[in-house]
Amino acid sequence: MFDISKLKSIVGEDWVVTDRQQMESYLIDETYTGLIMTPADNVVVVKPANAQEISQVMRLANEEGFPVYPRGGGTGVCAGAIPTRDGVVLSMERLDKVEEIDKENLMAVVQAGVTLSQLLQSVESAELLFPPHPGDEGAQVGGLIACNAGGTRAVKYGVVRNYVKGLEVLLPTGEIVTMGGKLLKNNTGLDLMQLIIDSEGILGIITKAILRLYPKFAGPATLVISFDDRHAAMRSVPKILQSGVIPMAVEYVDHDLMEATASYLGTTWPATKGVAHLIIIVTGTNEDDVYEQCEKISEICEKNGSVDTLMAESREEQAHILHVRSETSMTYKARTAEILDVTVPPAAIGDLMDEIDRLGAEYDTKIPMVAHAGDGNFHPHLMLELKERGVEKEVKRRIYARAVEMGGVISGEHGIGKTKLQELEMCLDAKSLDLMRGLKHLFDPNNVLSPDSAIK
Ligand SMILES: Cc1cc2nc3c(=O)[nH]c(=O)nc-3n(C[C@H](O)[C@H](O)[C@H](O)COP(=O)(O)OP(=O)(O)OC[C@H]3O[C@@H](n4cnc5c(N)ncnc54)[C@H](O)[C@@H]3O)c2cc1C
Repeated sequence: MFDISKLKSIVGEDWVVTDRQQMESYLIDETYTGLIMTPADNVVVVKPANAQEISQVMRLANEEGFPVYPRGGGTGVCAGAIPTRDGVVLSMERLDKVEEIDKENLMAVVQAGVTLSQLLQSVESAELLFPPHPGDEGAQVGGLIACNAGGTRAVKYGVVRNYVKGLEVLLPTGEIVTMGGKLLKNNTGLDLMQLIIDSEGILGIITKAILRLYPKFAGPATLVISFDDRHAAMRSVPKILQSGVIPMAVEYVDHDLMEATASYLGTTWPATKGVAHLIIIVTGTNEDDVYEQCEKISEICEKNGSVDTLMAESREEQAHILHVRSETSMTYKARTAEILDVTVPPAAIGDLMDEIDRLGAEYDTKIPMVAHAGDGNFHPHLMLELKERGVEKEVKRRIYARAVEMGGVISGEHGIGKTKLQELEMCLDAKSLDLMRGLKHLFDPNNVLSPDSAIK
């Protein structure tokens, strides 16, 4: 297929894995049970040390015509990093240096293989903050940028894109280019950097990033506010935002799901009243500011029908609430075919959730949901039994169709990868798809970088 000795001469013999057993963990990611893709038979894992070595691998890929699959932390949920054709998995794990925390400019310069956990530690030791926090700290900076990850804090702090100020990118044809810099303003030429962000590894390999940092905040405090009906909870969210309070996170959860998760974890869910909860995390300039915001939120929710408010101030209590919230998908993991990632205008989220409940009743199934309620992004869980009955795709397409009618999209943070390609045309017009294919061809004329992902 391709000459492994040439790969060894580029990165060194020790950094090429050919034994299937040793590469098992590089052939999978966190894609949900019902969508797992079978990796190709003839795969080689290559672990380059720097951009120059990656450049040589890409030049070889173009000469010999083999595909290359960039791989970060393998926490993606859309099979983006899974090598579905015979070829090379390019692991970024050795590009793992935090090169600089620049306190004067409030920027970090990091290599792409640095994990979120490593980044957070370095930034915290400099008494600074990198605000976004997608759920798995094993994700790498390159993967976070390639997927433009979101997470619970997006309502106040936005998604990863908002923090990327500069990139070093290895093009599929082997050239190394730099984009942006330690700059807060830059209107020089077309903004190619924004094109690379969220390109899911199909337009270039990110090797280094300059990320914007912020001063640390006071808090956080966590509120769990309970309601007797979902609409009362959802109605409260825009009222909170209109009041001028912008919480760090506004998560919606069904009471039943939290009870089930707590019991799965062998613990208890602290909120006992209501059928629906908002988990609201508040930060501020100082403790008084945080407390005042909590008071205001709780008053607004009371006016909109909340039945109880629980305020967690200690680190332990807050950690417990967030732990149960972050494990919700684990409760059903073995039984879940797919977790959708639909996004609609924030005010439409309650209506769509109601429609999904009705759809669940029509198909005689339960569709558990958690929602990043402040940003209109939510995750309906489609159970494996729907797949077994042969109706999972139908249910999914009906949810997507309704989301699109409401002005929404089929992915808000997880991306398209290889698992949503079939449905992409449900929310993109033919001309946009055409332009995207054209861009892919322009960047990657031989289609060697992550073929079959993000666009078809
Ligand atoms: C428990 C859990 C919670 C999660 N929570 C969230 C969440 O709250 N919000 C959210 O948005 N996502 C979430 N995710 C999804 C996932 O963590 C993100 O998509 C993350 O950005 C993937 O990063 P990674 O390094 O693991 O990438 P991988 O899984 O390794 O790869 C993902 C894609 O990025 C490409 N890629 C990786 N590195 C590079 C690079 N250096 N250059 C170019 N392309 C590259 C790959 O080719 C692939 O297409 C969660 C996942 C899990 C398992």
